[in-house]
Amino acid sequence: MRLKFWGVRGSIPTPGSGTVRYGGNTPSLELRLDDGSLIILDAGTGIRNLGDRLIASGETVNTHILITHPHWDHIQGFPFFKPAFVAGNEITVVGTDREEIDLEHIIADQMKKIYFPIQLNELKARLRFRSIGEEEFRIGDARVRTMYVNHPGFTVAYRIDHAGKSLVYVSDNEPFDRAAVAGLTNFEPAVMKRFRDVAGDPNDRIIGFARNADVFIHDATYTPEEYAEKVGWGHSHYAYTLAVASAAQVKHCILFHHEPNRTDDQIDGILARCRDLMAARQYSFRCSAATEGEELAW
Ligand SMILES: [Zn+2]
Repeated sequence: MRLKFWGVRGSIPTPGSGTVRYGGNTPSLELRLDDGSLIILDAGTGIRNLGDRLIASGETVNTHILITHPHWDHIQGFPFFKPAFVAGNEITVVGTDREEIDLEHIIADQMKKIYFPIQLNELKARLRFRSIGEEEFRIGDARVRTMYVNHPGFTVAYRIDHAGKSLVYVSDNEPFDRAAVAGLTNFEPAVMKRFRDVAGDPNDRIIGFARNADVFIHDATYTPEEYAEKVGWGHSHYAYTLAVASAAQVKHCILFHHEPNRTDDQIDGILARCRDLMAARQYSFRCSAATEGEELAW
């Protein structure tokens, strides 16, 4: 597998001198399987640069775009993804419906005339929409699994296994605390029931999902100190992310969805604190912070 990060920032794009090293685009990742096929994870603003690169290469684009959830930072780049404007390209958008609106309309509505000059039905590529829940399906030879996570908006994590290699992508997820969740109103009842019904610790779900992953990308929006003030916002602190990575025995843990106010120097500081924590707890996996433009191969 080969992976390239085109967007790593949470919530909103953050251009500026303080974010040039880790990057300011919102989530979008390019995954290439060993057979060359292309899977895109999320369609935040980073997907615009990916699309431009695909157009420049002349490649006929046949891809699946796996959307974790339709919060803006994960779909707002789609209207700027140029391969969708080119006849002959085939794009399958994968994601969850909501009870009141299906996936196709979720994507189409952000391109309504009031918001954007070109409507979804004017795009020239062949578009398909695949609504998913918590399930397993195949893209070519790859096995794709999804799991609902603890974040508002019918949010899923993706696990992709292919040719003995694996990637787990958990862009937005919060530690599940039964007592804290009891007072929350901004989470979908159907998803929360799934957590409450788990015997034992509901956080075991994500540990099982990530088990032995080669590459594990997980929300690390906050520091533990910040998280104490942000319970119920749907995001994790880095100590939780490291604990899941250790319990799941992953090989490489990548801190993701950087907080929009976080500068490059502050992310360096978080990485230093992670290394201290890992030494103290004798964690042995590799840890890094997602960086726009970074490429990995395994
Ligand atoms: Zn997000």
